[in-house]
Amino acid sequence: MHNLSVKKQIQGIRDKEFSARELTQHYLDRIEKYNPKINAFITTHPDHSRNMANNIDLSLPADMAPLLGIPVAHKDIFCTKGIRTTCGSKMLSNFISPYDATIIQSINNAGAVSLGKTNMDEFAMGSSNETSFYGNCLNPWDVTKVPGGSSGGSAAAVAARLAPIATATDTGGSIRQPAAFCGVTGIKPTYGRISRYGMIAFASSLDQAGFIGRSAEDISYFLDAASVYDSKDSTSLNVAADNISKSIADLPKEIKIGIMEGQLVKHTDPRILEKIENAIKLFSSIGIKIIPVKLPYSTLAIPTYYVIAPAEASSNLSRFDGVRFGYRTSKSNTIDELYEKTRSEGFGSEVKRRILIGSYVLSAGFYDAYYVKAQKIRRLISNDYDEAFKEVDLILSPTTPSLPFSFGEKSQDPISMYQNDAYTIGANLAGLPGVSFPIGFIDQLPVGAQLVGKHLSEKLLLQVTHAFQKVSNYHDAAPIGFGG
Ligand code: GLN
Repeated sequence: MHNLSVKKQIQGIRDKEFSARELTQHYLDRIEKYNPKINAFITTHPDHSRNMANNIDLSLPADMAPLLGIPVAHKDIFCTKGIRTTCGSKMLSNFISPYDATIIQSINNAGAVSLGKTNMDEFAMGSSNETSFYGNCLNPWDVTKVPGGSSGGSAAAVAARLAPIATATDTGGSIRQPAAFCGVTGIKPTYGRISRYGMIAFASSLDQAGFIGRSAEDISYFLDAASVYDSKDSTSLNVAADNISKSIADLPKEIKIGIMEGQLVKHTDPRILEKIENAIKLFSSIGIKIIPVKLPYSTLAIPTYYVIAPAEASSNLSRFDGVRFGYRTSKSNTIDELYEKTRSEGFGSEVKRRILIGSYVLSAGFYDAYYVKAQKIRRLISNDYDEAFKEVDLILSPTTPSLPFSFGEKSQDPISMYQNDAYTIGANLAGLPGVSFPIGFIDQLPVGAQLVGKHLSEKLLLQVTHAFQKVSNYHDAAPIGFGG
């Protein structure tokens, strides 16, 4: 059952080939058996999952909600009512959310069944999952390698077939980069497309929820269900959902893909660039026109992001003070000591580093030099895309400059870790949607390509990815050691 597409799983439940309960139990059994190998889940709640699935079986056939009975794993950044929500941090190790995030509510309303909460870098800060308080999540293709981050648990769970689909978030690449490292497909929609309500904030002007699945088609069902306007998020876009799952195969004619050229590409593993060449050939073979494009400011994406994201994080994370919720130090005599010790003991070192950088760039003496400057460069980066999109519909690049790396390889050197997001951050700074999808293997490790589109071009992105996946089978490959 775990090798069936989401479409086939929906059909199977509707045609009563299997029940929602059987499908959910199948995944719960797989999680029990294989999760210890990769540590993709922080929390599971089998009774709750079975109850949700039972309710769906009982309401069939009267209720034909679009995701009826499909199990899903949730990144532990989303608030889930009555269930522990840790954000990968000690700070929230005892936090039981009193409500569901809007994305959770939307897909629950559509009939999805929750399997549990997936591992992630602490407060979504990282590219390797090594900053999680709950231990490393391992890459199912090679357990000596990182799964990517911050949504590493979601990507690893889908790759190992412990869930057909998973929610995830992307502030600078955290959906696309782990999708690439784990050989699965991930979409970061347009900023504002899916509500941020109930998603624990990292950098609010960049954060966007999305999905990781095996294929563009699998993802389309979930994106349709989650693309709803939400008055509880002031940046939520009030535009109708695209019904992508119904039109995924309707590839428009005369599509032009721009191939990213320039500095960044020079710093990319040449073996990855060869795979990109193969992907370009495949795209050409299905009638897509290829044109080179330049994004001159793209080399400034990393420094710009690492000013803006920490600035916003330092403000957002001020709410974790030991007073209202989450972890509280057991040894304080004054209120100042309570704040200080709670935050010193509750946050890990990467989170502290970001808070320090953020406070620094926002401080009176440096605000103009760093924060304001970064905002100006953000505009230039965004203008680059506007220019490029006058010529092309989508822009293709590698998702990452390197292959999945080993544990410890970059964790002592934050700058080299940050370089991993060179290709992904631009889309966040400009609020654009992006997809990562598998385009092959090097030394048995997956390689991903990224497509970035204009605002609200999710439908085209998934249609083009689907067209690629119809003429390739990289997305069908499964890592060995997880029961086939
Ligand atoms: N790796 C980037 C960071 O560490 C992006 C994280 C994300 O997208 N949440 O900030």
